[in-house]
Amino acid sequence: MALFRPKICSVCGREYRGLGFQCKDGHFCGDCYDKLLLLIPQDHMFYNTVSKLKKTLEDNEDVLKGQYKKEMPQTCPICGKKLGKLTSMELPDGYICTDCAEKAVDMIPGAGYESVSRIMLSEIRTILSGPEATGTAKGEQGRRYDPDDLRIACPLIRRLKYDADSGANDTFYEDPLAELGPDGIDQVMEKASRIRNERRALYGEYKTVFSVDLIEKPYTTSKTGVHYTGEYLIYGRVLLGRVEKGAVLSVYGRSEERSVRAAGAEGRPSGKDASEGFEAVISVKDDVPFVYPGDVLVCR
Ligand SMILES: [Zn+2]
Ligand SMILES: [Zn+2]
Repeated sequence: MALFRPKICSVCGREYRGLGFQCKDGHFCGDCYDKLLLLIPQDHMFYNTVSKLKKTLEDNEDVLKGQYKKEMPQTCPICGKKLGKLTSMELPDGYICTDCAEKAVDMIPGAGYESVSRIMLSEIRTILSGPEATGTAKGEQGRRYDPDDLRIACPLIRRLKYDADSGANDTFYEDPLAELGPDGIDQVMEKASRIRNERRALYGEYKTVFSVDLIEKPYTTSKTGVHYTGEYLIYGRVLLGRVEKGAVLSVYGRSEERSVRAAGAEGRPSGKDASEGFEAVISVKDDVPFVYPGDVLVCR
């Protein structure tokens, strides 16, 4: 019975009996399967390579350790609501109530319940306690503010996070406002209006000001080669105002009368407007050989 001859798990190196599980370039034992199931969707295991699976387990050692002593608490660690079997969501390192889970799904662009259930409790706590989640908040002097109006002084910070599913680094954004108390918020409010006034003085008649970081010509690859999509993407940050779709932008301080028309403009994280203080990407349909990183694009 060849089937039951002991085999060596390609992932953990231990001997096992039975069928085991097949991945792209090897096979693994039931123990490894159970652990991986906590970290990545089942079908991802089967087309991943042994080295990817090994790395997934290594990178998430803490999660796996936590898993074995994890118990469902009586109440939601975020909002304090009573937790029940049907009103809770299991995370890699804890539990939250379904209301908080729903909020997190709404807050994270593109996220569904499945992806939220793979986020660590501490991260969900940060996401749900930020001013983005609570709508408007108040500074010390009781002034209400919209977090997006303060991005000029306190931009979202782009970070990368290793995603075991795809084996790639995912981009996410941290909100430094989330960590500020009321007096910190007041300071940021003052700083925001100071920076805005300085920029308005500098750029005068221009209502929209955009600083260029990177220009990219997107393409797709197929068997027949590389195919350009016929547009350019201009990445950067909005220094003032908002880049509207259709806006005609020219290079600040350059005498030639050359301009680009924004076929589209989107802020980052995606779903945001290309407005003041946000990273944004402008798409244009024409060649832009006269726009360089470091340029400033302006629009009246
Ligand atoms: Zn194994
Ligand atoms: Zn809750």
